[in-house]
Amino acid sequence: MQDMNVCADSASHIDDSAALTYSPARTYRSRTLPMHPEKLQAFVLSASNYGENDRIVSLFTLEHGRISGFARAARSSRKRFGPALEPFARINLQLLRKEGFSSLRQADIITLHPAIRGSLSAIAHALYACELIESLTPEAHPLPRLYRLLASYLERLEVVPGNQDDRRLFEINLLNILGYRPSLEHCSRCGSVYGDRGARLQSDGDLACHSCAKNGRTVTTTALHGLRACLGTGRFGLVTFTDDEHVQIAGLLDETLTLHAGRKLKSLDFLRQSGSLHRAAVPLTFRHS
Ligand SMILES: [Zn+2]
Repeated sequence: MQDMNVCADSASHIDDSAALTYSPARTYRSRTLPMHPEKLQAFVLSASNYGENDRIVSLFTLEHGRISGFARAARSSRKRFGPALEPFARINLQLLRKEGFSSLRQADIITLHPAIRGSLSAIAHALYACELIESLTPEAHPLPRLYRLLASYLERLEVVPGNQDDRRLFEINLLNILGYRPSLEHCSRCGSVYGDRGARLQSDGDLACHSCAKNGRTVTTTALHGLRACLGTGRFGLVTFTDDEHVQIAGLLDETLTLHAGRKLKSLDFLRQSGSLHRAAVPLTFRHS
């Protein structure tokens, strides 16, 4: 029943302030690792074959954050792993933590997200979300709010197979949880509140007011308001943006995410090739402006 509770909680508790807050400046120090396998919940972020029988997986666990795992004989042992070690699968697992690669002992599927796997657009968005987390999170650092955000986004993709509004809501909440959120209310240079002219995007990915920044693409007040609404609700499907706002937000968020990832994401090309950057027709229930 514990797993079901996490599912039910996923949409409503993204902004749980009691959850651990991650500081980018904080570095992980190895602790004494348990001698016995632990039972964990996880999403498979990525997986690749190793040799003839083994599999290397990147996991995002609820309990310990991102962990690299080694599944010996995963390709030949259907009993221990079955099809569980596929990207964006949600699993229960037994794992012996080690420095470097931890040892996977068993994995059981909670959900493979079957509807996502039936849609190219949804697959592209799910892989992109997983790669963002793999690129932006430190190893072995628990991030339960981000875990719930990913759970909520994948549940949403099961129903609505990928659109820009949901993608941007996921991204701005991810940046917020990791402490990388651009300054959406005040100028990052002088601290003044943005006026009616909105903000200007700077080369470092942050925003500044029109007095401090003479150049840079404008992000309008309605676009900034929409992003703040994404943080306020934390729920998918409640905030929508116009095409113009999407262009502004893409400039801001793509810049910021690439900066912190330190590289261009591989899944971004797939996302573009799948044609899924076009907005899907989603019923509107709330307009932020
Ligand atoms: Zn300023």
